[in-house]
Amino acid sequence: MNPITENAPLAPLTTLRIGGAAKQLWTVEGEDACVEAIRQLDHDGEPFFVLGGGSNVVIADEGFDGTALRLVYEGAEHQQRDDQSFAIDASAGDDWALLVDALVEAGLSGVECLAGIPGLVGATPIQNVGAYGQEVATTIEAVRVYNRATQQVEEMTAAQCGFAYRSSALKGNADLIVLAVRFLLERSSLSAPIAYRELAEKLGVEVGDRAEAEAARSAVLELRRAKGMLLDEHDRDTWSAGSFFTNPILSGAEFEQLEQRVREHCGDGAQAPRFDAAGGMVKSSAAWLIEQAGFSRGEQRGQVALSSKHTLALTNLGAASAAELLAFAHEIAARVDELFAVQLRPEPALIGLEW
Ligand SMILES: Cc1cc2nc3c(=O)[nH]c(=O)nc-3n(C[C@H](O)[C@H](O)[C@H](O)COP(=O)(O)OP(=O)(O)OC[C@H]3O[C@@H](n4cnc5c(N)ncnc54)[C@H](O)[C@@H]3O)c2cc1C
Repeated sequence: MNPITENAPLAPLTTLRIGGAAKQLWTVEGEDACVEAIRQLDHDGEPFFVLGGGSNVVIADEGFDGTALRLVYEGAEHQQRDDQSFAIDASAGDDWALLVDALVEAGLSGVECLAGIPGLVGATPIQNVGAYGQEVATTIEAVRVYNRATQQVEEMTAAQCGFAYRSSALKGNADLIVLAVRFLLERSSLSAPIAYRELAEKLGVEVGDRAEAEAARSAVLELRRAKGMLLDEHDRDTWSAGSFFTNPILSGAEFEQLEQRVREHCGDGAQAPRFDAAGGMVKSSAAWLIEQAGFSRGEQRGQVALSSKHTLALTNLGAASAAELLAFAHEIAARVDELFAVQLRPEPALIGLEW
């Protein structure tokens, strides 16, 4: 039987600490209990959403008129594949950051730059979490899901997951509930090739070189802490959902238009950040655009502030509402659109809210 709480406040279960109550909160322990709970909810026609670590959600002030399903089961298993690689079957309820620490300590390489990302394993494939030049998609072999459409437990290959920048076929698909994730990692004390310039500089290596995985993990944690991207309840800059906006992915023509707007607004010498993205697209920087649009670190609207360390994080100063947070986010997005004709999109899942 799953413990059920009626009229359960959700704010304390999120890193933003914002939002009202759910009609019910079901806490499920174990994969079978999770499947049973979903079948029951669907049978009853009860709306629900899965709440992991609550680090990538904004919950409406009115709360959620349905059930929040919380997965708390853990248990990662390692299995040697060959001399070079290990498969790790991790449960949806495993804490991601703790898992990364354990994998690096066990001499397994491929996720060290994803250290310190809050939340649970089950959410990692949803938006293909990434940081410092690494994405979880590069090590995911398969994802076990409960498919509400077929009412079966199914295995999705990485290709079927359709991973892309902060996106996947699972994102926004309420039918697919992640039960477990299988990662394939290299047995090595060395990191994967370092792809992020700032991290390479900190490690004293060239982009494309490998470093000691433990050194890479520690360097990433230091960088994250300095940017308020490492959870710390005493650091109000981390009362956030991480980056609030995804970086814009533009076609070549759209990027040219952006360059033109940047010259007009910021002067001839100004250049929008440009990174190659999949499919010939170009990724620019949401944080840079926000700053060029005139917003500064620490800028406040009521109880909401841009992080004092990073313009991409919207933070709760203590008593913020979801309405206040979205109003500030809309103000930022509208100004960026007006000046640069780029439409910023929110990264967190909005529960009971529309963008
Ligand atoms: C300080 C901070 C730093 C961050 N840094 C990064 C970063 O560097 N890179 C990055 O990519 N993200 C980052 N994030 C965002 C966040 O940590 C990740 O997206 C994380 O994977 C969310 O996990 P969660 O368990 O908290 O998911 P939740 O916030 O609980 O859920 C997020 C979404 O996934 C759905 N979901 C969760 N679990 C499941 C499941 N088992 N099956 C189906 N759907 C599910 C939820 O319904 C919701 O729609 C950061 C957040 C914070 C607060």
